[in-house]
Amino acid sequence: MAENNITLELKNVSKSFAKVENDEVTHALNSIDLTLRGGEFISLVGPSGCGKSTILRLVAGLINPTTGQITVDGKEILEPSPERGMMFQKSTLFPWLTVEKNIGFSLKMQGKLKGNEDKVERMLKVIGLESFRNDYPGQLSGGMAQRVALVRSLINEPDILLLDEPLGALDAFTRMNMQDEILKIWQENGQLAIMVTHDVDEAIYMGTRVIVMDANPGRIVADIKIDEGYPRDRSSESFVGYRNEILNRLHFGGGR
Ligand code: ADP
Ligand code: MG
Repeated sequence: MAENNITLELKNVSKSFAKVENDEVTHALNSIDLTLRGGEFISLVGPSGCGKSTILRLVAGLINPTTGQITVDGKEILEPSPERGMMFQKSTLFPWLTVEKNIGFSLKMQGKLKGNEDKVERMLKVIGLESFRNDYPGQLSGGMAQRVALVRSLINEPDILLLDEPLGALDAFTRMNMQDEILKIWQENGQLAIMVTHDVDEAIYMGTRVIVMDANPGRIVADIKIDEGYPRDRSSESFVGYRNEILNRLHFGGGR
């Protein structure tokens, strides 16, 4: 497996937002310390509002922390970069571009489309939409559009891949296939992947680490290393053990 050697560090990172209704602030994140490295696949889980998307947006450089510092190899992140590819929670495609052109868009913007047409082909194949290449987003189902949005962020082979609930709109079967496809691409590129998911099984199936968060204020409550190779067996004893541990941290334990 290829591996890049980047180190992403969040040091004492907090993020507050002014509330619209009154003078109060939302403590979206409180004092986050994290060191993440190339080759890791980080699954972020936690209740709605615990700051998962905020972490991704900070790392993407779309917003800046209220306190603390975020660095890649010691260099502070201050703005977005193609080295950090993001797929948003509610990704939208360009409605005036075909599936194929949506996938190739960022390569084209960087003047890198020529000579990389095979990458677009590969991505079309990964998501099984070769025969939809000339369709427009309005003609696609929600799941198809989500798959296009996913590979659009993968195609740049960013050092840091940020995925905000990338598979949420997919049916269970397509979802499991796409989990394997994402893992394959991640393993080939050795990048640092950070994925938000609501699905605890997905978090364990894909992650080298599962980071569990809680809200008010947004914070990390557990950082669990998943000590298993790939592909993983969702019904193995160790898998079930991880599931119980994480559900307990999320306060969904069986009360045993
Ligand atoms: P999650 O992705 O875990 O559901 P978010 O990171 O989206 O949570 O949000 C964390 C908290 O910060 C929530 O209370 C949310 O309402 C608040 N928040 C996020 N972005 C903004 C913003 N731009 N303005 C005001 N409040 C925000
Ligand atoms: Mg979110």
